[in-house]
Amino acid sequence: MTISHHPPEDLLADFAAGKLEEAHQLVVGVHVAGCTRCARFVQAIEQLAGATLEDFEPVPIAPDAFDRVMSRIDNSPEDEAAPPPASATDHDLPPALRKYRIGKRRRIAPGLSMRPIELSGSGKARAFLLRSAPGSRMLEHTHTGTELTLVLEGSFSHEGGRFGPGDFDYGDDEIEHRPVVGDEGPCVCLVAMTGDLRMNGFLGRLIGPFVRL
Ligand SMILES: [Zn+2]
Repeated sequence: MTISHHPPEDLLADFAAGKLEEAHQLVVGVHVAGCTRCARFVQAIEQLAGATLEDFEPVPIAPDAFDRVMSRIDNSPEDEAAPPPASATDHDLPPALRKYRIGKRRRIAPGLSMRPIELSGSGKARAFLLRSAPGSRMLEHTHTGTELTLVLEGSFSHEGGRFGPGDFDYGDDEIEHRPVVGDEGPCVCLVAMTGDLRMNGFLGRLIGPFVRL
């Protein structure tokens, strides 16, 4: 598995500090569990946080934060990297997901269904598994909040590139998406979302201006 899209560094830093709300902690956590690069970054942040009494300089979250943090950690053993996440069939979810109750599959639109993940209810974001049929063009949509998406199976592409298993996509209300699902099979994503998903276009109008996922 080649992962080419990672969470932004500030999100990883907040994850390492346990500051994210539950849905985001879950999605970032599943990515980190399958990504050697991000697992090492999180481990490095944790080590630096645990070493505040020593004379480390603070580590600002800048575009080069990853390289700067990694340059301070020269002896993180490679073999501590976590195994890649399992594929996301009903029987074989990533380990971090197995402790959650996952609701029944609900059809949202042709070729599109979701299964809600039951969180403890303290955060604002919802989490769900989103399944799209191979080759489908997902509804054009914009967000009223943020959306964290992690591909578990299959792939999709949009203006930002191609996203396959393990890839992480961050969307906010600035971004308009028109993802196309790859032909190789259904695309299953783990999604954490705040706000609403606003459907555009003909089909969107047909099924309603808002789909409450
Ligand atoms: Zn990563």
